[in-house]
Amino acid sequence: MTQANSTQSNAVEKENTDVLVRTQEVILEALQTLGYDRQVYDILKEPLRVLTVRFPVRMDDGSVKVFTGYRAQHNDAVGPTKGGIRLHPDVTHDEVEALAIWMSVKCGIADLPYGGGKGGIQCDPRDMSFAEIERVSRAYVRAISQIVGPAKDIPAPDVFSNSQNMAWMFDEYSRLREFDSPGFITGKPLVLGGSRGRESATARGVAICIEEAAKVRGIALNGAKVIVQGFGNAGSYVAKFMFDAGAKVVGISDAYGALYREDGLDVDELLERRDSFGTVTRLYRNTISNRELLEMPCDILVPAAIENQITQDNAANVKASIIVEAANGPTTSAATQILTDNGVLLVPDVVGNSGGVIVSYFEWVQNNQGYYWTAEEVDERLSARMRTSFHGVYKTSTKYNVNMRLAAYIVGVQRMAEAIRWRGWV
Ligand code: GLU
Repeated sequence: MTQANSTQSNAVEKENTDVLVRTQEVILEALQTLGYDRQVYDILKEPLRVLTVRFPVRMDDGSVKVFTGYRAQHNDAVGPTKGGIRLHPDVTHDEVEALAIWMSVKCGIADLPYGGGKGGIQCDPRDMSFAEIERVSRAYVRAISQIVGPAKDIPAPDVFSNSQNMAWMFDEYSRLREFDSPGFITGKPLVLGGSRGRESATARGVAICIEEAAKVRGIALNGAKVIVQGFGNAGSYVAKFMFDAGAKVVGISDAYGALYREDGLDVDELLERRDSFGTVTRLYRNTISNRELLEMPCDILVPAAIENQITQDNAANVKASIIVEAANGPTTSAATQILTDNGVLLVPDVVGNSGGVIVSYFEWVQNNQGYYWTAEEVDERLSARMRTSFHGVYKTSTKYNVNMRLAAYIVGVQRMAEAIRWRGWV
């Protein structure tokens, strides 16, 4: 074997799981399919701004710990940037960049007047006290306050952050600015200007995609076997919605392991026993690994945990015929192609989990108007947008004969590219 050949085969063996590189490849392909020139790609391939901050926080034991955080703003040609803040030990600069780009694409598909943003704090809230998490949340807001705001960049919850973090962040921001500013952040508790339906919005959107995908595939939801990987905010509500719809939830998991029961799990019981980080499997016997769970028999698989779970190593072993991504980036590019070739209908993250940011948008609109909607109004408007997004992307995939992920990017980047052209940036 020549040296060039051996390098090539190594490259095939070792899949690229770098989320930023993988995102840039799809953005480029989508822009090329639409006929945009390279200059548009040069603007969109990375965020326009990424702020890295380091901030000291006093811990409960009296010591001071320095935390690192990021806030990335991908593109504001369409409007202010929007996206969550994750609290996770593995958060990196590149990951936050990729996640901000995904938010832009997501907002494009859902037709929201935003570009994408994302933030992260390198920390493990599972090992921190309530008071420490509060001090970290507040210190992060002080550190990034210059570049965020209701008409600039609007944060929200993400992995391991919730309405309590949003409440502290909102309070800190309002104190800094010296006026009440609910439109600064979404995912707030109801009493602080949150929206009805926001807590379960991501999962509700996933459930609607499952319904539409099942119709396309002629699968009846009643009795269908569903596996949900991850039991956090998205995963636990998806399991509940599926359970209530009459599906058989045969598998769930958390960071420590997975449960698989052919006869179906009692989701209500699991929900009662889970902690606020979605940990529950440690309370049960006969667990399997997360990796094993993904390969177990089912009709519908919902990855609702973290990135790079379905790769070229396990994609061919997935038994599901429908996958709806509730997590951001759970499937690699190579795996997406393997699944598509095997006839799996894969609804990508930028469509599948967009219910969260859609209801965040509704929350921001309600905050700006000071007028609040009923749960029915929220759900009706969310359902309409989700169904339009799903079918728009599905049609595009048929039109260009491409997989659903590339189709989603084609739909999602188009509006950004148009806005860039109208503004005269290229
Ligand atoms: N973190 C969620 C996402 O990745 C929600 C973002 C938002 O509501 O702004 O879509």
